[in-house]
Amino acid sequence: MLKNLTIVGFLLFSIVGFSQQNFKKTLKLMGSRFDITVVANSETEGNQYINTAVSEITRIEKIISSWDSNSETSEINRNAGIKPVKVSEELFNLIERALAISKLTNGAFDISYASMDRIWKYDGSMEQMPSEETIKASVSKVGYENIILDKEEHSVVLKLKGMKIGFGAIGKGYAADKAKALLINKGVKAGIINASGDLNAWGTQANGKDWMVAITNPLNKEKAFSWLPVVNSAVVTSGNYEKFVRFNGIRYSHIIDPRTGYPSTGIISVSIFTSNAEFADAISTSIFVMGVDTGLNFINQLKGVECIIVDENNKVHTSKKIKLENPN
Ligand code: ADP
Ligand code: MG
Repeated sequence: MLKNLTIVGFLLFSIVGFSQQNFKKTLKLMGSRFDITVVANSETEGNQYINTAVSEITRIEKIISSWDSNSETSEINRNAGIKPVKVSEELFNLIERALAISKLTNGAFDISYASMDRIWKYDGSMEQMPSEETIKASVSKVGYENIILDKEEHSVVLKLKGMKIGFGAIGKGYAADKAKALLINKGVKAGIINASGDLNAWGTQANGKDWMVAITNPLNKEKAFSWLPVVNSAVVTSGNYEKFVRFNGIRYSHIIDPRTGYPSTGIISVSIFTSNAEFADAISTSIFVMGVDTGLNFINQLKGVECIIVDENNKVHTSKKIKLENPN
């Protein structure tokens, strides 16, 4: 009898197990490539889940985009040095968390870096290095201390005229976290929201195996360093190797040191492993600004956060708990 029960149990498990599948869709959202994967019982269900994620990401983009003149963010930027702007609780809280990360990183992360967009361009249009005076003038508009939040009014004001905020270094991570949370809330058992290498995963693949991510070698995109299982956590990589400019033999990245107004140098890519993609996104950007030594030291002091850094000499550096086989 016991044996029969076991067999019935096994059969039921098999039927349930086999009907689930991974469904994946790649699309462009927030100006970036998103790969959304969900585990579902049918294609119809899979598509429905993916559409839910897409509408969530689109909704977020409408709030945080600095390109869309109708976004709350653009409204804040338009009113820089003029008046406080009442914003949604969601944007208010995101800015509040961004300011906390600025404090934690000693200003290496700063959403008000954005006014520097006017002088450092990474679309191939820059022909010469901006002058020292131009950089000086622009960086005077950067500084998270001048982003003023009023909790009661739910308002934000950028103190200086010409100041600007942008969520380029935190928005994709935030969107991945929010889309994941919404799908979990809708009962989706497992999936991955991957925003151009900033991803958050939950559950396991339909076959019961862990989701795996490839940590790619920035110098040889065909060759992964290694495949790592991601169990209910986030993996975020900063370092768009196409996005840089070179002047006088120096490679300037698209990440700006908010304190000097100059782009960071010395690092090619940073991957962060932790539970939350928003935090990982912001921190990965900060490490570029901090440099290898300060960056590693910083990560080693954070609980539950690990990193892999590749410097411009192709040397791989890892935080305490990560051991790669023959990384160099
Ligand atoms: P990637 O584009 O490689 O995913 P990041 O997540 O690090 O890289 O985000 C880089 C973007 O963040 C830049 O393109 C810019 O929009 C913005 N940014 C640049 N410097 C800073 C900074 N110091 N603090 C906050 N955001 C920044
Ligand atoms: Mg980032």
